[in-house]
Amino acid sequence: MRPLVAHIDLDALRHNYRLACQCAPHSHSVAVIKADAYGHGALDCARALAADASAFAVASLDEALALREGGITVPIVLLEGIFNADELAQVDQHRLWMAVHSAWQVDALLAFSPRAPIPVWVKVDSGMHRLGFAPDTVSAVWQRLSEAPQATALHLMSHFATADAAESRYFHQQMECLQALGDRLDAPLCLANSPATLAWPVAHGAWNRPGIMLYGSNPLETTTTAADTLRPVMTLRSEIIALRDVEAGEPVGYGGRWRAPRRSRIAVVAAGYGDGYDRHAQDGTPVLVNGQRCPLAGKVSMDMLTVDVSDVADATIGSEVVLWGCAANGAVLSVDEVARGCDTISYTLLTGVLPRVPRRYH
Ligand code: PLP
Repeated sequence: MRPLVAHIDLDALRHNYRLACQCAPHSHSVAVIKADAYGHGALDCARALAADASAFAVASLDEALALREGGITVPIVLLEGIFNADELAQVDQHRLWMAVHSAWQVDALLAFSPRAPIPVWVKVDSGMHRLGFAPDTVSAVWQRLSEAPQATALHLMSHFATADAAESRYFHQQMECLQALGDRLDAPLCLANSPATLAWPVAHGAWNRPGIMLYGSNPLETTTTAADTLRPVMTLRSEIIALRDVEAGEPVGYGGRWRAPRRSRIAVVAAGYGDGYDRHAQDGTPVLVNGQRCPLAGKVSMDMLTVDVSDVADATIGSEVVLWGCAANGAVLSVDEVARGCDTISYTLLTGVLPRVPRRYH
């Protein structure tokens, strides 16, 4: 077997969910497990959280049905609602909750006869300018739905564009718009993603929607006491499969981008962009070899990457290499730090781990 495994720590997942709940003690937290739980395996994560979670959120009907087929009975909300009117029959049959962001979805719902009224979250475009009703049209939508026998448990939902920033006028602008709408309609709110759950109590509503923080990544520009206690859920672990010494000035890898600044020991590790490790990782991006930080040296290949282990006395074939997560000696390399080395965000690294990497649950 190729020695590359994504280890998933389900206790850490439960810890992070509980932390999200503690950050907002007066809110329910819907655990966002779309995109296969950000690459961690949606069904396994849902089963691990089922006893604690008030609800799960996914992006599509397929994702919800996979959870129902796997025996998950906790409420599931479709964050983007339906993609066509035919999906309503399944929403009804599987007792799903749905967001509505467009007039055609409301029309479709009101032309449908569910066996039981469907819980509906009305999405407002308060500034993200992606999905949702314009603020000045929300009252009419709300009115129609509140009078409709097809809909129940209406909530106002919105998404923040800049909640991760340390200080943001735009966040407060979105908040003002939403508070005014919420007051006017006397509507329960569902606004906070992970950064707002962690850092903006003002955004905590009847429901919050934490995603990335459940997986142990801190989305904030700065940190908070709570963010500091997040625990990594995924450890992407491999091994050294070859070692070689190169002379000062010798290049390593495609394009010869990295050149040895001195006589150096290079470890070849069984992980590459064919597994989802980001090909844009810069030289110097950290990995842990036997729990010791070492810099990436050379461009990432499809099945391998190369690391300068000159300073690791005990590096040998078979030594543990942690691309992110927790090493056997307790050292931790956060996926956020690796993401900075790749000029990306933790979300893309975690969702990008490809199916050929087996997930092992603990
Ligand atoms: N709510 C919506 C509508 C989303 O699209 C997302 C993520 O993309 C989330 C909540 C969770 O966001 P985060 O992972 O930043 O907590």
